[in-house]
Parts: sequence; structure tokens; C-alpha cells
Amino acid sequence: MPRPVYAAEGPGKARARPPGVAPLPKVTAPRLYVIDCGTLVYNRPEDYSLTREEVADTNMSVPCFLVIHPHGILLFDTGLSDRLVGRPLWENVDGGYGQIKFDTLSGQLADIGVTAADITYLALSHSHFDHIGNANDYAASIWLTQKAELDIMFGARADRAYLPLYAALAHARKVVFEGDHDVFGDGTVILKFTPGHTPGHQALYVKLAKTGGVVLSGDLYHYAEERALHRMPKEEQTAGTPASRELIDRFLKEKNAQLWIGHSTAFFRDAVKSPGWYE
Ligand SMILES: [Zn+2]
Repeated sequence: MPRPVYAAEGPGKARARPPGVAPLPKVTAPRLYVIDCGTLVYNRPEDYSLTREEVADTNMSVPCFLVIHPHGILLFDTGLSDRLVGRPLWENVDGGYGQIKFDTLSGQLADIGVTAADITYLALSHSHFDHIGNANDYAASIWLTQKAELDIMFGARADRAYLPLYAALAHARKVVFEGDHDVFGDGTVILKFTPGHTPGHQALYVKLAKTGGVVLSGDLYHYAEERALHRMPKEEQTAGTPASRELIDRFLKEKNAQLWIGHSTAFFRDAVKSPGWYE
């Protein structure tokens, strides 16, 4: 049987769906998928200026998000590396964070009906290890990045331990900006410049017909308790996070939108996970 030809192999080639991939969803309004991209086992909330007594669960969920819009598909964050799947926890501890991963991002995308070749845009909330783990797999998409984050990712101070996980993005087609970026030009999907956690950190606003407006926090917050108790990592107090949090608070009011804190296990527990979706 002839080998199927995939879209990633070049424009103008015949396009067949890879075996085992669900049909690509056709949408008339944006859909938002919450994908399980792993869990961080962690017990030092002190790093976030919180005590263990103050935090209900010090572990962190690691979601990836997919937006299927009538004019294209956006992947927001790539989570923990797919290579961690099935590996023992003791092997996967990094900087005090134990990394657990049960399913690959690529496999969960296939369950939705999406292959890497179908993804128009890749955006990262920021370039820390739990957000860039599979970035290389999506380097054929157009990378939407803040200039400040691009500069630290490939500058002299880039973290050599993590650079290999996103190195392919150096050669990706890019849209580079400083500030907010309206992804599809219709106000429904907007990257919100929220520096502080990193110099080019960005959150994502998605306007959904039934659910309403949603802001995906990135690491503007890690624990819900940071928001309730007005806490943040000490180094972020003077790094822009207070102003970015105020900006998002005003934006949430203006848009009557909800804030989803991705690393909050309570958020992730209650979320509709892919292949289910929000619309
Ligand atoms: Zn994170």
C-alpha cells in the first residue's frame, strides 16, 4: 500500500489524513480545547510566597490549549515533553519539580482530529520548561512571539538545558511583536502581553460564543491562592507582574471574562478536557 503524503511535506502535495487521526473539526465559531500536558509534583509553595497551610494543593497541572477558529488553528503552550511518558518519577525530577506525563500531546491532538501539519500558529505563554517541552514538533507552524521572549530564548543568557527542546523554532516562520496581538484579526483570540514572570510572558484571551470570554493565565499566577491572597514570587514583585496582574484584572472586567489558572489543579480537575471542548 502506498505511504500517505502529509501536508507537512510541502504545499501542493496530495493530502491524506494519517492513519488513526480523527477527522479535522469544521467550525463556524472558535472552539477551545484543554489538553492534559502533564503534572508537576511540587511541595515548595514558599517559592511563590505562600505557606503549605495556605495552599490546598501544591502540585501543578500543566495544560496545553488548542483553539480551532474558522480561519486557522492556534496551539498555546506545548507542556511537558512527550518523551517523559511512561518514565519513572525519580528519573523525571528537575529543579525540585517531579514531572508526570501519561499521554502525549501529539496523541491527544490526533484524538481531536489535528496533526502538527494542521496547526497554523504556535504561541507560548513563555519559555520555561513546562511550556516548551514539545515546541520542536510544531516548528512548521507560524510562531507568534513577543520580541522580549524571543531575545531571551536565543540570546546569550538562554538556558542551555532547555534550548534543545525549542531549538527548531529558530528556523520557524515568525510573527514577532511587542504588546498585544490579535491572532485572527477579529478580536476573538488575542495574545495579551503580561511581562513579569519572564520578560515576554503573554496570556491568551479567547472569546467563545457560549462560554463567554476566557483568559488563559499562563504563569501570571500558579496557584489560585496567589490571586486570593495577593502573593507572587519575591523576584516578580519588581519585575512587572503587579502591573500585568492589574492590567488583566481590568481586562477581565471590561470583557466580563473568566480567568483560568492553568497550573491550578482545581481548575484542571473541573475543566472539560479534550477531546471535549468549550465553545
Ligand atoms: Zn509554568
